Amino acid sequence: MPQRIYCSTCGRDLYVGIELESPLETIHKHGGFCPACRSKLRFDVDSIKIVPVEDER
Ligand SMILES: [Zn+2]
Repeated sequence: MPQRIYCSTCGRDLYVGIELESPLETIHKHGGFCPACRSKLRFDVDSIKIVPVEDER
């Protein structure tokens, strides 16, 4: 199932794709910061959101 990982601060997509990607890998790819709002990304619900694409709200 496609998944979407996005910044919970500004809503910027950090990863959208069919492959299940580790959130830690996604965070690492972005250097630990959101490219849009520069929030520090951490693997917790206050920092990033992970949702199945079909369940997007
Ligand atoms: Zn952001």
